Parts: sequence; structure tokens; C-alpha cells
Amino acid sequence: MIDLRSDTLTIPDRSMLETILTAPLGDDGRLDAEGRGEDPTVNKLEDMSAALVGKQAGLLCTSGTMGNQAAVLTWCRPGDTVLVNDLQHLDRSEKTAFDPRFGQMKKAVYHLDENFQPATEEIEDQFRTGSIKLLCLENTHNYTGGTCITEASLKKIYDLALKYSIPVHMDGARLFNAALYLKVPVSQLCQYVDSVQFCFSKGLGAPVGSVLCGSKEFIKAAKETRKLMGGAMRQAGIIAAPAIYALEHNIPRLQEDHDNCATCAAQLQNLKKVIVQKDVQTNILMLDVAQTGITPQEFCARAKAKGLWIRPIINTSVRLVFYKGITRQDALNAAAIIRELDAEL
Ligand SMILES: *Cc1c(COP(=O)(O)O)cnc(C)c1O
Repeated sequence: MIDLRSDTLTIPDRSMLETILTAPLGDDGRLDAEGRGEDPTVNKLEDMSAALVGKQAGLLCTSGTMGNQAAVLTWCRPGDTVLVNDLQHLDRSEKTAFDPRFGQMKKAVYHLDENFQPATEEIEDQFRTGSIKLLCLENTHNYTGGTCITEASLKKIYDLALKYSIPVHMDGARLFNAALYLKVPVSQLCQYVDSVQFCFSKGLGAPVGSVLCGSKEFIKAAKETRKLMGGAMRQAGIIAAPAIYALEHNIPRLQEDHDNCATCAAQLQNLKKVIVQKDVQTNILMLDVAQTGITPQEFCARAKAKGLWIRPIINTSVRLVFYKGITRQDALNAAAIIRELDAEL
């Protein structure tokens, strides 16, 4: 079975797991005067992460969801309006900030243009209303197929945000995929946002965790938010150690995932009914099955019967995600299965 459901399916290898055995540990929930916890491995990861994205401080979170929601709940209060993209993960999938039981925030929406860049006129129109308290971006953008917001777009948006004094949070669950595609260091992208979250548990291949980065003051407040969410941990160095290993070893290999994704897409030209994502940029490939006469669920069930495990993602699309452990041959075989399925429709 070729399993392309998500890049969260990476399994830690032995050398990654071995880092846990020798990591110095302590109680991360016990804070010193500076607000730092007592687990040296967590502190090392948070400092490494902050340095990579060019921010003052970092905060280890159990998941990308917690990282994003801790950010929104720190920037905003109940009743505040948060400006999100119409297909943003932190709204569509996570929801906490907008849930009447939790964040109780209001939502304003902007769209992406035909080049998958946030529509700046829409954003400025929203800023002009005077009610927006936070702008959220997503890079790479999951539901449009791993597309990237360019440095030029980020700069343009940040200039607007500065003009209207509105903070910007970036959901960078796959930030390193974006930086790789755009050929710029992550810090160069992140200079145009006030807070950023990225995941260790996706393409970077660690089993658990994400980090939220921002100014010292912001991270201090976010740490309190994380505690309210039940996210303060103890010997979390056992999570941080594999994440450090991921940062030290697994960033350059993301190119392999991008190459495998492109290889698969290249094999899917001239299909009869399945519409293949045109501008494949990173490790995600979307197939629109609207014209196939079957539901996305049925399409995935038929693919699974042929040895390819994929899943519906949004509207009429199904998603293929390439990650560590998926080979070029897997990518070719996956394409062959999709071609065969398309021919049968
Ligand atoms: C996966 C993902 C998240 C959340 O990460 P979890 O660790 O699964 O909570 C957030 N944003 C995007 C774009 C994602 O793809």
C-alpha cells in the first residue's frame, strides 16, 4: 500500500529516536525569573527555532493546532475580529478561536488571487473597517495544494499591516517547504510576520510537536495561553530532542518530496476526467474529481483497492502528499494507479 494521505505519517528513524535517550531533561513547567522552564532540551529547541525564523523567542507546542490557536488567543480577545483566508486551516480545520465555547472571535475573510497570493486589496478593505485585530496567513497553503506566498507578497501585506497597526500571524506548518520552493531562508520570509508557527511532525519527520515564535514579550504571554490550554508539559525534552534532530538533518531532504510530487504530477498529463493541479510547487498534489461522476470518497476507495491510500480534502478534491519514506518509485506507481482509475471512469 502506498500511503499518501499526509506528511504526518512519517515514522521517526532509529537515530532520531536515540536522541531521546541522551537528551538532558527537566521540568519545563517550572519557570525561572526569566520565564524559562527547566528542561534544557526544550530550551535548546525553542532557541534554535527562534534563531532559524529570526525571532526573539520560541514556544514548544504539542501540535500545530495548539501553536496557531495559542497565537490567536494571545493576540486577540473574545469578540475581536480575525482576518483569515477562506480556506485557512486554522479556521476550516482547527476552529477553536471562532468556537463559541472557546475563542468566541468573529471572522472576516480574504481570498487568494489566481497566483495563490493573498488579495491585498481585499485585505486593505478589511483593515479600513477598523475592526480587524489580527491577520492570519498560511504558507505553504494546504487546501490549495501546497502553494507558496512569495516574499514580495509578504512584504506588501506587512507594509499594509504596519500602516494600520495590525499584527500578522503566519501558519507555517510547512514553512520549510515554502522556503525551499521560494529559494529564500525562512528568516527572510518571517521578517514580514509578527508570529509564526511551524510543525516538526510533518515533512521534517519528527513524531510530535510544533513551535510558535515571536517577540520575547509575545512568547511570554503565549506561554500563559498555552498553560490555559493544558499545553504546559514536564520532561518535554523527549519531544524536543527528535525535533532538534529534525532541524539538524531533515530540512534539505524536503527537496526529495518536492521532486517526487513533481514526478507524480508529470505522469498525470491528459487524463480523461480527473483534473490535476496545474501549478505543483511543493509536496502536495491535488486532484479534482468533480467531473468523474463519483464522489471523492468513492474515488479514494477505488484507489485504495488498487493499492493507493489517499483521502478527500476539501470540496471535490482529493490530496496526495509526499514525505520521507515515500520513494520516487512509489510516486510513479501512485501515478500509474490514478491513470488506471481515470481510464476506468
Ligand atoms: C497540519 C496543519 C496544521 C496543524 O498541525 P497539527 O499538528 O496537525 O495540529 C496547521 N496548519 C496547516 C496548514 C496544517 O497543514
